[in-house]
Amino acid sequence: MTADLVAFLRARLDEAEREAQRLDGEEWTWSVSKPWDGPATGHISAAADPYGRIAVLPGGDAAKYEDRIRHIARYDPARGLRDVAARRAILAEHRHLPMDGCAQCADGVRSIGTASRVEWIVNRAEWPCPTVRHLATVYDDHPDYQEAWRP
Ligand SMILES: [Zn+2]
Repeated sequence: MTADLVAFLRARLDEAEREAQRLDGEEWTWSVSKPWDGPATGHISAAADPYGRIAVLPGGDAAKYEDRIRHIARYDPARGLRDVAARRAILAEHRHLPMDGCAQCADGVRSIGTASRVEWIVNRAEWPCPTVRHLATVYDDHPDYQEAWRP
């Protein structure tokens, strides 16, 4: 199960990275225009080419409409690449150590006792740790996601 979860996460990150790279890691901007005789129209454009529209969206409730456009533009390919890098860094920190569980979450080995008797306590962390399980929940709608991974 452990190897499957990490492989599953890496595959999803690879997919997201490929998608963002195919769009050259573009940064997107958004705007709303409202002609005098028609409904507002939203535009999402590449920051490097504001006239090359990525999407044109019909209008609606002005406040909710702008929130939706802003949200779409915020999740642009540039952010997608940053998101993949951050998730990979988290996954690298929370890697599996066979004796201790999660490398980041384990407390390590401590000694307790007196001069005549010392006991060692090994604080192992569960694996996969909750952090890795939470990372996977982003993809819980994927057909390969397993409910047993849910934190
Ligand atoms: Zn961990």
